[in-house]
Order: sequence, then structure tokens, then C-alpha cells
Amino acid sequence: MNIFQNTKDFILDTLFPISCVSCGRDDVWLCDDCLRRIEPLSVQVCPECEDAITDSGHVCRNCKFSSALDGLLVAAKYKDDHLGKLVHLYKYRFIEDLHIPLGKILTEAILQSRLPIPDIIIPIPLHPRRQRWRGFNQSQLLAGHISRNLAPGFEIPLGTDILRRKRYTPPQMKIKKYAERLDNLQNAFIAGKPGDIKDKTILLVDDIATTGATLFECAKELKRNGAKKVFGAVLARQEVK
Ligand SMILES: [Zn+2]
Ligand SMILES: [Zn+2]
Repeated sequence: MNIFQNTKDFILDTLFPISCVSCGRDDVWLCDDCLRRIEPLSVQVCPECEDAITDSGHVCRNCKFSSALDGLLVAAKYKDDHLGKLVHLYKYRFIEDLHIPLGKILTEAILQSRLPIPDIIIPIPLHPRRQRWRGFNQSQLLAGHISRNLAPGFEIPLGTDILRRKRYTPPQMKIKKYAERLDNLQNAFIAGKPGDIKDKTILLVDDIATTGATLFECAKELKRNGAKKVFGAVLARQEVK
């Protein structure tokens, strides 16, 4: 590191001091003590009916034939003080480095679950317009962290160019009714490179799910292109207000 880099870091640290969002400890966004205090979600449910309690968020027996998604693992509660705050800073204050503690939370949840180790990890894509606005794809950074840390000594392939958004859709958060959300997403994604996904077990990664409509839509497109199993993993599920 040269002197200019040092000076630049010094100035940035002075202007934007880094401290734990929870306890204020210096130099980290979330210290290890506060990270440990984020409680894993104790009960996982079927993502389709949200009714049946299932192991690791697998789809229940009744929904098995109607759901393209084979399961959705939710790491923690959105209402957990630290987690909600972290996700907000990550997405809307553009603090890219937060993908590290958030990625740790997700990786740990997957390791503790009974989801299979995937052949390929796919982040939910952003429309290029929104990615330019935010400067990064928050799901892609999380997916990258998982791909490097899920299987020791082995990097699980990351499929960043498999799913694409075909058209610009209004943010799901702005749409209140479930049916309208589904409508908004209908055929919004397209899967390329079918050779890469045929007969593969895929893990879709997103930061937050609300109704899960985005994940269901992506899973449908991946299955249509030959994927064998599609699971999802998110930090938390945020209730529709
Ligand atoms: Zn702390
Ligand atoms: Zn169900």
C-alpha cells in the first residue's frame, strides 16, 4: 500500500468512521459479539403455503407439485434489531462492506440446515438500471461470499450471467397486492446458458424476500431450462405492510 492509499484511507476513515452498528465498537460494521447475538430463525416453513413447518424450509408435501422452488431457507428474523438495521444500511446507504457479516449469517444458516450443497449459486439479478444506481448488486456480493465459504477449500461456481432481467419492473416493495406482485414479475427473468444448469441443483440467493414472488419466478425459469432442484436462501423475510 502506498502513501497515497494510506492518506486516502485515513481521510475516509475520519470522514466516515466505521463502527459496529449495534454496540459502537470501532473499526467493524458488526463486531463478532453482536454477530453472534443475531439469532437464527428457529422455525422454517414451506415457502409456498407458509403454513406447514418443514425441515430447513423445504416445500411441504401438499405444495410439492405446484412449486418450482424446492425450498426456501430464511436465516433470521427481519425484526431482529441488528439485522434489519444492517440490511437497511447495506441496501439504502450503499455500504458494500456489509456483505461480509451478512454473508457470514447466510453461510452459517445454510451450513446448519439440511439443504444440499448446490452445484451452482445464482444471485437474483438486478436490472442494469438499478445496479448502476446502487453501484453493486447486493445479492451478488452475498452469493459470492457463500460460494467462497460454504465448502472449505472449494469454491462453488457462481452463476452471475445465467439469469437476466428482461424488463424493468417497479420495486416489489412498492406493490402491495400479492397478485399484482406476481403480475409485475411475470416473465421478467430469462435464463441463458441452459448447458450450465441442466440437471443441476441450484441455490438462489437474495437479501430479503417478502412474498417470495421473485424467487418463485426465477425458480420457474430455471426449471423450464432443465434445472433439477432449485432452493433459495435469504437473510430474512419481511412482511408486506
Ligand atoms: Zn458490536
Ligand atoms: Zn406448503
